[in-house]
Amino acid sequence: MSETIVPQTRAAAPAAAPRNLTPYESVLDTIGWTPLIRLRRVTDGARTPVYGKAEFFNPGGSVKDRIGLAIIEAAEREGRLKPGGVIVEGTSGNTGVGLAIAAALKGYRCIFTMPDKMSQEKVRLLKAFGAEVIITPTAVPPDHPDNYVQVAKRIVAETPGAILADQFYNPVNPEAHYRTTGPELWEQTGGRITHLVGSAGTGGTISGAGKYLKERNPAIRVIAGDPEGSMLAPYFRTGEKVETHPYKVEGIGNDKLPSTLWLDVIDEYHTLTDREAFHMARRLTREEGLFVGGSSGLIVALAARLARQLDDPDALIVAILPDTGERYLSKIYNDEWMRENRLLEPERLTAGDMIERKDGGAPPLVAVTPETLVREALALITAHDISQLPVLEGHVCVGSLSEGTLMARVIEDPSTLDRPVATLMDEPFPVVDADVDLPRLARYLTRQNPAVLVRREGRIVGIVTRYDMVRYLV
Ligand code: PMP
Repeated sequence: MSETIVPQTRAAAPAAAPRNLTPYESVLDTIGWTPLIRLRRVTDGARTPVYGKAEFFNPGGSVKDRIGLAIIEAAEREGRLKPGGVIVEGTSGNTGVGLAIAAALKGYRCIFTMPDKMSQEKVRLLKAFGAEVIITPTAVPPDHPDNYVQVAKRIVAETPGAILADQFYNPVNPEAHYRTTGPELWEQTGGRITHLVGSAGTGGTISGAGKYLKERNPAIRVIAGDPEGSMLAPYFRTGEKVETHPYKVEGIGNDKLPSTLWLDVIDEYHTLTDREAFHMARRLTREEGLFVGGSSGLIVALAARLARQLDDPDALIVAILPDTGERYLSKIYNDEWMRENRLLEPERLTAGDMIERKDGGAPPLVAVTPETLVREALALITAHDISQLPVLEGHVCVGSLSEGTLMARVIEDPSTLDRPVATLMDEPFPVVDADVDLPRLARYLTRQNPAVLVRREGRIVGIVTRYDMVRYLV
């Protein structure tokens, strides 16, 4: 394919494609037809063009606006939802917003159940639209009575006029994407799309849009990413239902196979980590100006990898960007939360962070004075299961001891045990300030110099050993 897409720029075509030229009847009419935006920086020079489908342009800030409206209108048509009715759903947030916007305009009451790992912003957002939110525990199996989906089902059974939106089993969900997202991508790329990259929560987006696109051109590849801990990618690859474990990316992955995920539409399923997802979400914001959530990060990390592998200027990859970063200000975009969860990129961590995150059980600093006896020093080494011991005079490091050297000396001459450590200590450890970053810290940690002391406000507050660093890296 020789002809490539020429993306519009404000300078080149300000009037060629006017947006929002005429007024809308209500905010519901602004759902869909989200922009397709070229990603240039986060693909690190790959020749394959990658575009992001910016679903955060929807009025509720996510791809789920598309299905909220569609599900409500289908229930109205089928006569299941009547004036004064109640919409109930177990939702990780975005579907709730999509439903709540449509319900606000149509006058329905909403009750949402939500696992407690979801961000506070999402809970507040749903309440802002007038919805009732019930928080349930995250770490319970799908069939447990406290699982958010089970709680939602119980509320429907007990509430007159209530319907379950049922996004994981409602065919209206993938159909909405077959009707809207798929055709939009086909038109926006002039039929040139070669790869669709997405990630399934319910699977509605990737299944519906993927099915439409493959009907237009069977050569189009549909590629899914999944968070580590979800059962979807392993199930796709092996046909076996593996044990799941919690992960931090929200809205994608699953502990069961929903009927809204059409695996026959998907060609490849890859597993990615929270760290890859969040790192890329932050890059999308900083480098592309696209303020997105963690699932966008995961999808673009996969799309960028694919772009590098293909290295084909005639291919055209579209990555779905499901929601806005505003939903994650207290998480992905909060360094403290990222640090607590060991998700910050190493280059942004400091020596001080290494001290705070040591979890081996030893206090951050075990030290002796020059007068301490070798016997006492060895006892400390054994008690705390450590291998390096600084010798301090006040806040000055005057020497160092290592388990290996001490033992060798004692074996040679047992009377060493009752001498002060000052008589056989080695060179002092280097001291660095707490704000020194990890690459610089690592340069101090050599075979000859197995530990570094960390100083904060003039006081020595901890020690980082080669062992700590290796442990952190793996
Ligand atoms: N990302 C986020 C943030 C979501 O909330 C969802 C929906 N749960 C998805 C991706 C996945 O969309 P779908 O349910 O259509 O697979």
